[in-house]
Amino acid sequence: MMKHYWSWGLCFVLLLIGGQSSGVAQSSPDVAPDQLLLKDYRPRSIFKVPVTQVNRALFPVIDVHSHPYVQSPSQVEQWIRNMDEVGVARSVVMVGATGKTFDDAVRLFGKYPDRFELWCGIDYQGFDQPGFADRAIAELERCHRLGAVGVGELSDKGRGLRGIRGNVDGFPMHIDDPRMDPILERCADLRLPINIHVGEDKWIGGLLKFCVPVRQKAA
Ligand SMILES: [Zn+2]
Repeated sequence: MMKHYWSWGLCFVLLLIGGQSSGVAQSSPDVAPDQLLLKDYRPRSIFKVPVTQVNRALFPVIDVHSHPYVQSPSQVEQWIRNMDEVGVARSVVMVGATGKTFDDAVRLFGKYPDRFELWCGIDYQGFDQPGFADRAIAELERCHRLGAVGVGELSDKGRGLRGIRGNVDGFPMHIDDPRMDPILERCADLRLPINIHVGEDKWIGGLLKFCVPVRQKAA
């Protein structure tokens, strides 16, 4: 049954490729179809229909998932110009970190509070030692005072919570670990929404090596 399914899938893909190549101009017309490499394949649509190129959003847009991709003030200014060009009014920059990494982001983006929202992380250092929640909350409050308006992107792909930076060694907690409770409560008090990246699709498990040990364990 499964085999049939795959055969039909393959047929469909071949039909698609066949259909495309019959009516398109390629970058190297002299190359025989069976010699043409995918990397050199430049199909051109044969449809004669109006094309709408959307270069700019009609209404102001909020980019709700971004990260501190830039390092210098001039790169931030370029980012703002890019946003203006396509109609993005504001970007949520999920720093996903505390301490110096968050402070650096504040220094970089803090000049533009109307254009960038900064989200911090949670400091997981010492999660297995007494006083962890108090220390993490103190750092959370400090980030909040510096301007954090959310917490994220937290990440748990099966091996425990991790920040984007500043991971702890070993196998940390999951989000429902009781040690996280007071921290999550404090996020609620401070009205900080939390963004969590949980799990991965099965197929990604083979591609991302950090997922593989968990999947092997489960098997
Ligand atoms: Zn992300």
